[in-house]
Amino acid sequence: MSTGVSMAAPDRLELVRRFVNTLDIEDGVDAIGDTEGLRRWLSSAGLGPAGPVGDDEFRRAHELREALRTAAFCNHDRVALPIAVTTVLDDVARRAAIAFSFTPERDWHATAQAQGADGALGEIVLRVIESMTAGTWPRLKVCARDTCRWAFYDTSRGGTGKWCSMRLCGNRAKQEAWRDRRRTAE
Ligand SMILES: [Zn+2]
Repeated sequence: MSTGVSMAAPDRLELVRRFVNTLDIEDGVDAIGDTEGLRRWLSSAGLGPAGPVGDDEFRRAHELREALRTAAFCNHDRVALPIAVTTVLDDVARRAAIAFSFTPERDWHATAQAQGADGALGEIVLRVIESMTAGTWPRLKVCARDTCRWAFYDTSRGGTGKWCSMRLCGNRAKQEAWRDRRRTAE
């Protein structure tokens, strides 16, 4: 880490960032590469599930992860989310049976009512909703380098950070652009 800037997201959003980063694209390592890996990861994150994870839940977890990666990429220029992304988020929220309850103190809580992995995935989407409400969501990004796409929390003053600091991707992207320009010039 060259800049000394923490890439961690605030509070409950950090879990979302960690979920996206269960796939290390550059190294080809997937921490939730099979159903047991997914169960272990969700369990270690404190989300359950109590029992084994089914194949359909496994597939939905991977769809959610890539939808969140795309959504975080869209935060770079605040472009509109593809319908494919909102469809996945809607589906996870629906399956998780997210419910709201109000308190006498004029407060409210949202919880995922579904059990198992679908409930756990719903908890991840809930944290996205919280982050959108809190205004922190636009700073959750993935590295602009297409071979990296590591999720990071952009703490730059203007919210214009493009690359994760972990792998010096900014420098490497500039070197690649320079090489491309040279190749074009030749
Ligand atoms: Zn990177």
